[in-house]
Amino acid sequence: MDYFDLHCDTICELSRYRLYRQETGTLLQNSGQLDLTRAMRCTHYAQVFALFCGAQPLNDARQAHERLMHLLETAQRAFSESASVLRHCRTGGDLRQAEREGKAAAFLAIEGAELLQSEDDIRTAAEAGVRLVTLTWNHRSRYGCGAAADNEAGLTEEGIRLVKILSENGMFADVSHLSEHGFWDLASCTDAPIVATHSNSRAVCPHLRNLTDAQFEEIIARGGVAGINLYVPFLTRRSRADCTDVVRHIEHFCSLGGQHHVCIGADWDGCDRFPDGITDVTGIEAVAEALARHGYTDTQIHNFLYDNARRFVIEQF
Ligand SMILES: [Zn+2]
Repeated sequence: MDYFDLHCDTICELSRYRLYRQETGTLLQNSGQLDLTRAMRCTHYAQVFALFCGAQPLNDARQAHERLMHLLETAQRAFSESASVLRHCRTGGDLRQAEREGKAAAFLAIEGAELLQSEDDIRTAAEAGVRLVTLTWNHRSRYGCGAAADNEAGLTEEGIRLVKILSENGMFADVSHLSEHGFWDLASCTDAPIVATHSNSRAVCPHLRNLTDAQFEEIIARGGVAGINLYVPFLTRRSRADCTDVVRHIEHFCSLGGQHHVCIGADWDGCDRFPDGITDVTGIEAVAEALARHGYTDTQIHNFLYDNARRFVIEQF
């Protein structure tokens, strides 16, 4: 089985090990939800590793700069320690190379543009290989407002300028966490494909973090992708979920014409409640099995779990 995942917080987790816990977890093997030892049970494995701005509002430029540098250093160290089995990829060509070598393909992203408070920091991130940036996290920031704070508040003037600067630096705006108003502000200021690395369907589960049908249709129309998040509150209003809930979101996105645009962005190391029976990255096998039980063909499953994200990267990165 092949697996391309659009979002995890493992780098942040590794940086926390080093800062606070004095544990010796590495990307190769750790006690969290994702490491290469487990993920590379897959034949081909690609992962977007997010550098998270942090759960506290981040408004101070110096603090943001220090955090960015610390996370980039953690990622670079983790990637170089794993170089025998992992390739840090920036382009579609790099992904093909990783596939040929049988290595994990690692991409970098930023979760929460407030981590980028200056044009120098944006350039630093781009040079380090960051290809995707969520315009907000849950809070209001200088760039816009997260869905969790206010879905009616959009991008600020600075946020609109940021979209342009990201694109000039070869990075894509990621709309996961962004308010609905912010999504449409983005849509009206760029023609670029829109990516939601870890967002589900609001028609299936009415959580403010999830995408409306109109938003997902806009993603399809622009040739973008959306990754299904395995966090229980984004899957269902019930207190527990199972893999059928994951299938339901995929099914709904497919019913809108999104069979080549729906991917997985499971949020490993970013959340604590997964569908029953899933505790870590190996749980993706249970998702594949559930899709098979619901009548999806091997090709369709391969598209959702790998090829849709792969195609996007090959065409756009
Ligand atoms: Zn997130």
